[in-house]
Amino acid sequence: MKLPARSVAFASIYPALGTTIRSELALAIGAQATGDGCPVIDRHQRTSIRGLYAAGDVVSGLDQISHAMGQAAVAATTIRNDLAAIRALRR
Ligand SMILES: Cc1cc2nc3c(=O)[nH]c(=O)nc-3n(C[C@H](O)[C@H](O)[C@H](O)COP(=O)(O)OP(=O)(O)OC[C@H]3O[C@@H](n4cnc5c(N)ncnc54)[C@H](O)[C@@H]3O)c2cc1C
Repeated sequence: MKLPARSVAFASIYPALGTTIRSELALAIGAQATGDGCPVIDRHQRTSIRGLYAAGDVVSGLDQISHAMGQAAVAATTIRNDLAAIRALRR
């Protein structure tokens, strides 16, 4: 990182690390990807591969714990509903 020659004052500094998208397995079985290598998902976390769902940092969007947990809940509900569409699930 190149810093300016002059001094600069900040009220606060938020350091950020880069992340590596670990989508190799999904892409290896043919999941459609965004330009930056994230699996493409629909509004219910389904990828383009039937039976494969994605949530959290691996998909495009806000990389925060609460967001990942919300997406995981949506994925779990979708998995349940997709399975129920194939065969009725009993409680
Ligand atoms: C430095 C830093 C600070 C952060 N601070 C905050 C914060 O204060 N608040 C906040 O909300 N979010 C924060 N985040 C973001 C937050 O950590 C992520 O959004 C969240 O962890 C995403 O959860 P995830 O389950 O999608 O991925 P991860 O938590 O990364 O979990 C993925 C898991 O899969 C494993 N894995 C990957 N590839 C494979 C493979 N091929 N086979 C088997 N296992 C594999 C990894 O080892 C990892 O354990 C921070 C992130 C970083 C890097």
